[in-house]
Amino acid sequence: MPIRIVLVEPQHPGNIGAVARAMKNMGLVDLHLVKPLAFPHSEAIARASGADDVLESAKVHESFAQAIADCGLIVGTSARQRHLPWELVEPRECSAQIVQASRTETAAIVFGAERTGLTNAELERCNLLMTIPTAPDYSSLNLAMAVQVVTYEIWLASRPGVPPPPERDVPLAPAEDVARFYVHFEQVLKEIDFKDRTGGGQLMARVRRLFNRAQLDQNEVNILRGVLTAVQARRRPAGPKQEVKEQDS
Ligand code: SAH
Repeated sequence: MPIRIVLVEPQHPGNIGAVARAMKNMGLVDLHLVKPLAFPHSEAIARASGADDVLESAKVHESFAQAIADCGLIVGTSARQRHLPWELVEPRECSAQIVQASRTETAAIVFGAERTGLTNAELERCNLLMTIPTAPDYSSLNLAMAVQVVTYEIWLASRPGVPPPPERDVPLAPAEDVARFYVHFEQVLKEIDFKDRTGGGQLMARVRRLFNRAQLDQNEVNILRGVLTAVQARRRPAGPKQEVKEQDS
């Protein structure tokens, strides 16, 4: 399975081209773009300098959820800590895990827009949050340079002779199934009148962080969905089954 590079709302076509080049140098070809400002574009082709095939096969999506729907391991990248603190991992620490995940599922590494980076909602969809260590007072790299550093570490970790981490018995659940689980979970919380005591309405953000950190596999999502359905059946033994709506943002 491929290792996918996802660029969320890239502003500069030149950066998209430079990302394609950085990827191809490191043996990666699966580029996905979420609402690029200008693509295709001559500037992108110029900066790709020979990696046009990566640009040509790039897939464009209308939403972030769509770009990662079929992916298992999802790694967000950020130069800084966000409002809900996460453990930050460095590229060297997690590259072997990304390479290993890509043996059984598509692994995605997600990069934010040049000016704003990834939103909290996008980061909440990720299993890991990766940061490239830098000088503390100037931590934000150019988008394509960040992709270069991360893909370089992945290349090093995927070379023959590097011992792989232990294999997972069941692949991670695709992001779209995990998103449906969160919708279901939230619905059950409402049905049982569970009160959000986190202050600031962060209950679901914290729940997502917990389960994303656990990296749910397909069996685990099925078990948890089964538990939720059993809770619902207990509460409304005679009532009609409620539809669980899919969330797409
Ligand atoms: N001003 C934005 C930075 C955006 S840079 C902010 O403060 O968040 C564009 C993208 O490059 C980021 O979203 C991230 O994906 C990547 N990037 C830049 N510097 C990085 C770093 N030190 N570690 C990890 N990713 C980085």
